[in-house]
Amino acid sequence: MKMQKCNHELKCDFYGCKNLAKYAFSTKGFIRRELVFCENCMKEMYALFGEVLVPKGVESAFKGRKRKE
Ligand SMILES: [Zn+2]
Repeated sequence: MKMQKCNHELKCDFYGCKNLAKYAFSTKGFIRRELVFCENCMKEMYALFGEVLVPKGVESAFKGRKRKE
């Protein structure tokens, strides 16, 4: 996967967003072309990813470690 600055004058791909895209995300053919999005949408996405990927609180982090031992 590759993320780079968007060099073209493209609109953000997110539905309803009218900002100009600032970043491009190469999907290597998964989607027909690069996905482009603006800074706002990237921040929103980042927050959503964080919710899914980062364990919530100390308790779950501790549990994860315990399982491995
Ligand atoms: Zn956007």
